[in-house]
Amino acid sequence: MKNSIGLYIHIPFCLRKCRYCDFLSSPADREGRKAYVDALCEEMKNRGPEAGPVDTVFIGGGTPSVLEEDLILELGKAVRGSFDLSSCQEYSIEANPGTLTEEKIRAFREIGVNRVSLGVQSFNDRLLRTLGRIHSAEEARRSVQMLRKGGIDNINLDLMFALPGQSLEDWEETLEEALALEPEHLSFYALIIEEGTPFYEDLRSGRIRVTDDETDREMYHRGLALMEKAGCRQYEISNASKPGRESRHNLKYWTMQDYLGCGLGAHSYLEGIRSSNTEEMKEYLRPGGKTVWVHPNSEKDTREEAIFTGLRLVEGVSKVRFFDKTGRRLEEVYRAEIDRVREQGLLEETPTHIRLTKKGMDLANTVMSEFIEVE
Ligand code: SF4
Repeated sequence: MKNSIGLYIHIPFCLRKCRYCDFLSSPADREGRKAYVDALCEEMKNRGPEAGPVDTVFIGGGTPSVLEEDLILELGKAVRGSFDLSSCQEYSIEANPGTLTEEKIRAFREIGVNRVSLGVQSFNDRLLRTLGRIHSAEEARRSVQMLRKGGIDNINLDLMFALPGQSLEDWEETLEEALALEPEHLSFYALIIEEGTPFYEDLRSGRIRVTDDETDREMYHRGLALMEKAGCRQYEISNASKPGRESRHNLKYWTMQDYLGCGLGAHSYLEGIRSSNTEEMKEYLRPGGKTVWVHPNSEKDTREEAIFTGLRLVEGVSKVRFFDKTGRRLEEVYRAEIDRVREQGLLEETPTHIRLTKKGMDLANTVMSEFIEVE
């Protein structure tokens, strides 16, 4: 019998591009959205029979909530018709407060969605404008109420910190507002200004400035303390949840379990093979295969990925899981690296795991680079 998998479905549309965004998403008209959903349903129909039972679904983007109700229903029907969802425990969809309606929430429920990830980013209207978001703080609050009223009892709020012009107090206010809404889950990412975005140009011309490292870290730790006080426990570098409400789907990525990605540019990891779909819409809409890149992981790829993904977790890299994935003992492969970073106070080792210390979390990239093997 095939292993259970996570299913990721990519919706590459947004009403308007945010100023910091370099994700694969763009505006589209109704005709474009319909043609895409049809192609996506076709892809799922073709790939479903080869896939194992699906125990988590994540519809992400872009902004899946830009889809009209009929397209949400069409998509949901194709998911159910193509995959075995009998063991599905978590069915998530991403939504933007500027596009959510009661009707869409009803459609979410009808297709089986039981978790909604809401892209709030900030409860400060001035900062939302700076980011180029299409919604206000009030719309975000109303969206949470609408979701609760619509029967969604598992809500994630996406938040961002280290924003241009954001003070520590602004960030604390956003977190306090977020926690007052009692979400089951919070994701919190520091803004990274990527080349090719309007923010990058703003940075180059001096219109905005990056947050200094010290403030960035203060925001991060202050945020964690507020979440902890409200009963949201950190379980990954940028994620915290109420007990038992960790994202099962994302945990698949961090523990290297199998997942299938459908849609434009979507990535898959199945039985040790990484692959990805075309990022060209024209090509994606053509009938036939969508996969343009296939890479069977080497043993070294798997070793390094097990470290990079596992160290993101608060529990760290499980020695048993590492052995299952690579066939080698973690302590044997990386004894020198583990000792070196441990002596710097960045890593701790238990009989079952290695994990980042608090200081190590702040310097996660440095720690991870220690495990890259130069060939
Ligand atoms: S809503 Fe998300 S995916 Fe869409 S443009 Fe903004 S940041 Fe990018």
